[in-house]
Amino acid sequence: MRCYYDGHMVITVAGFKGGVGKSTTAIHLAGYLSESASVVLVDDDLNESALSSSEGLPYPVIKNTELREYARNNAPEHLILDTAASSDVDRLQALADECDLLILPTSPDGLALRALFRTASALEGYSYKVLLTICPPRPSRDAEDAREMLTANNLPLFQNQIRRAVAFQRAVLEGVLVRDVSDSKAMVAWLDYVRVGDEIAKEVK
Ligand code: ADP
Repeated sequence: MRCYYDGHMVITVAGFKGGVGKSTTAIHLAGYLSESASVVLVDDDLNESALSSSEGLPYPVIKNTELREYARNNAPEHLILDTAASSDVDRLQALADECDLLILPTSPDGLALRALFRTASALEGYSYKVLLTICPPRPSRDAEDAREMLTANNLPLFQNQIRRAVAFQRAVLEGVLVRDVSDSKAMVAWLDYVRVGDEIAKEVK
C-alpha cells in the first residue's frame, strides 16, 4: 500500500452505486483512525450527504473545497474522502490515483454487485479493496455467496465485513458513530468497522 509523505494516509471511499454504505464506511473508518491519529473526513457527497450534523463525531468534517486550506493549517495525519456515487470512469481513476487506499463498499445483493463489477472493471490496473457491507444475518447466505463470487473473480476483498444493523441508520441520523448509539447491537456493529480498520492498520505498517 502506498503512503504519501510522512506516513500520512489518504483513504477514498467510492463506487458507481449509491446506498451501499460508502458514507457509513467513511464515517466509521475515520472514527477508528481518529483513536490514534488526527483525521479529517472530506465530504465530497455534497448533494446527498448522509450526515445531518457532524458535531457528535470525534473529528472534523469538511467540504472538498475547504481541504487545501484545512490541510495547510492543521496537517491532519489521515484524510478520509467520502465521494458521491458516480459512473464517471475518468473521475474514478483519478480518485484511485490520488489516494493510498481506495475502498469500494458493496452490499451483497445482485444490483449492488453488478455495479461493483462495473466499478472494478473501470479500475483494472489500479489498486483497490472491496468491502462487503449491509450483510444480512444468517440464515441468509448472501454475504458468503457474494464473497465466493468476488474471490472467484479475483477481486481484492477485506477479510472482515459489516453486518446489517439498524444502529448504523440511527448513528447517521443522529450524526454520531454507531458506538455512541443506544442500541443493543451498537457495539458489535462498531466492532465490525474496528476489525476492518485493524486490517488497514496492519497493511500500512
Ligand atoms: P452511500 O454512501 O453508498 O449512499 P450510505 O452509507 O449513505 O451509503 O448508506 C445508505 C443507507 O444504508 C443509509 O440509510 C445508511 O444508514 C444505511 N446503512 C449503511 N450501512 C448500513 C449497515 N451496515 N446496516 C444497516 N444499514 C446501513
